[in-house]
Amino acid sequence: MAAMTHPAIRVSEIFGPTIQGEGVLIGLPTVFVRTGGCDYRCSWCDSLHAVDNQYRHEWEMMSVDAVWQSVVGLSGGRPVMVSLSGGNPAIQPLGALIERGHREGYRFALETQGSVVRDWFAELDVLVLSPKPPSSEMATDWAAVEACVQAANEKPQVVLKLVVFDESDYAYAKDAAARFPRLPIYLQPGNHTPPRPGNADSAVDLDGITKRMEWLVESVTRDRWFEARVLPQLHVMLWGNKRGV
Ligand code: SF4
Repeated sequence: MAAMTHPAIRVSEIFGPTIQGEGVLIGLPTVFVRTGGCDYRCSWCDSLHAVDNQYRHEWEMMSVDAVWQSVVGLSGGRPVMVSLSGGNPAIQPLGALIERGHREGYRFALETQGSVVRDWFAELDVLVLSPKPPSSEMATDWAAVEACVQAANEKPQVVLKLVVFDESDYAYAKDAAARFPRLPIYLQPGNHTPPRPGNADSAVDLDGITKRMEWLVESVTRDRWFEARVLPQLHVMLWGNKRGV
């Protein structure tokens, strides 16, 4: 039988294993496949090197086979959680990669803002929907986020993850929770000193992040918002803005 050919995947970087630094899988050893390109331009994006066309020359069109060989090499052939991130990984054709990895016992999580819907979301193990709050200066298409939840079709675990910088982001997070009452929700203080591409090891204001974390904890307890979980970005606490960890 002739080998099936699958569309190539635009990749910014593949790295790991390291721990997942945020959200529902925090602390879990993970290999990251970061795709290139995003339909958003958040004001505080912490992965511009995978978003801005200016860095396109660093991205590579890779076959499913090539991406898979890289993941297997990094994990030593031991099944591990694979995080599909970006950019917006939903704009890449990732269905065949997920199928390939599942055959070998790997698991897949994908994080997206929820602007682009794919039927292969149902093949994931974990779908993290991270709609972007007002501080991002992006507008949310809630119908698209809802369509992402529908596409998952109750197969993967689906969770919400909201970055919160200020009161209006906090109100947005509450609105998101009200729209999707069945989804677990994770809140995370925003990093107001994100890395600049080309200066991937730039300083991070940990004091500022910690203050925002404290304020978030106070806010959810004051409001008796007992369904919300508040988590920092562990990788930022450990390694600042360093890339590839
Ligand atoms: S959606 Fe994510 S990757 Fe895209 S610009 Fe916003 S923060 Fe960056």
